[in-house]
Order: sequence, then structure tokens, then C-alpha cells
Amino acid sequence: MIAWLAPLLDLVFPPLCPLCERRVDRHGHDPLCAGCWAALPRLRPPFCARCGRPVPGLPPAEVCEACRRAPPPFAYARAVAAYRDGMREAIHQLKFRGRVALARPLGDLLAEEGGAGVPVEAIDGIVPVPLHPRRLAERGFNQAELLAARLARRWRRPLLTRLLVRTRPTRPQSELDEAERRRNVTGAFRARDPAAAAGRHLLVVDDVLTTGSTLGECSRVLLAAGARAVGVLALARVE
Ligand SMILES: [Zn+2]
Ligand SMILES: [Zn+2]
Repeated sequence: MIAWLAPLLDLVFPPLCPLCERRVDRHGHDPLCAGCWAALPRLRPPFCARCGRPVPGLPPAEVCEACRRAPPPFAYARAVAAYRDGMREAIHQLKFRGRVALARPLGDLLAEEGGAGVPVEAIDGIVPVPLHPRRLAERGFNQAELLAARLARRWRRPLLTRLLVRTRPTRPQSELDEAERRRNVTGAFRARDPAAAAGRHLLVVDDVLTTGSTLGECSRVLLAAGARAVGVLALARVE
């Protein structure tokens, strides 16, 4: 767009916050207004050192009961917010109403809050969870990739969008119970370029972490392709 046109358009059509529809003053998190940005339900420690689930009273570096019984494939997982209130609404607007401008503030939230639980300097590449090509064609964009791209820019880490592919369409995980979720994603991903994974520390990024089946399966595939370590970062965790 021509440089002078955007401020002019803002003057004629003031940008409205997609969550509360109030006018947005420029404060660096637009299109979210300052109030909605501040109200995003950020998660606070203590977290399980492995799966990242908030566990009240857990000592630092300890893992939760579930991870002790059955350790997940990834070395660590973190989510920066709870999947409720403004966060749930923002993800819906991004994914299902195509408000792709939201990927900027939400990617910033990942970068600002995710750094606390993720060894940023050790990461060799950021890998968004891929959509099946058919789903990608329907939606026109991959929300995980938009978030990962913003994160990669903020953290100055390589974005690897062609490493993982989804080889068969899967049903939305939200419709399934835990056992079905695991079956739904088993064998659904493939590492297209194992050489790009070999010996690397990779961070897999998604918008929502539910039971961790999808992110666990992506991790398993990358480890099988030779990755040295795989961690997971999601925007929101279903509580
Ligand atoms: Zn707002
Ligand atoms: Zn755990």
C-alpha cells in the first residue's frame, strides 16, 4: 500500500479492535486495543518442566505426575495463555474469520512470554504445525505458520516451513476424545527433508495445545528424522 494511504484510511475508517469493537489507539499491539491486549489470560508458573501444564505448588524443574508415568516425545512444551476469554475469541477471529492481522500481536505475545520457558538461543529452527494442503486451500493461510513467522522474526531464528508435511487430512482434534485424538494424528505427518532436521534443536509451534497429541506426533516424526531435540510452543492451552 502507498505509504501515505494507511494513515489516511485510519482517519476515515478508524481501526476497531476485533474483540471489543472499540477504537484502537496506536500502542504497538494493534489491531488489539490496549485493554484487550492486557486482559489476555497469560499463564503463570509453576509449570511442569516437561509438558508445561501449570501445576500449583510444583517445585521448579519438577515434572507432573502424568509426565512421570508416560513422558511425552518432546523435551519441553510451553503455552503462553489459557484458551479462554479474549484468547479464545482472538484465535477464532484469526482462524475462522481470516483476521490475519491478529497474528502480529499474538506472535508478539508468543515471543515475549514464551522466552521464559524455552531455551531460545539453543533453537536451530522453528517449525509450524502444517495444515493438510486441502485445508490450506480452503482457509487460504496456516495460522500456525503466521504465528511462527512472527516468532522467528522476533527471536531471529530460522523459520522452517517446508520441513514437515501433513500427509493425510485429519478431523479437528476438538471433536474427539483423547484416544481418538492419538489415532487421528498417528502417521499424519512426514519429514520431507530429514537432512534439515538431522542434529538440530527444533521448536514446533501451534496455535492451540489440547492434549498434546498433534504436537507429540510432530515431535516424534522430527526425532525419527534425526533431530537432536524437539520442544513445543503454543499460543494457548486448553485447561
Ligand atoms: Zn478491545
Ligand atoms: Zn507434565
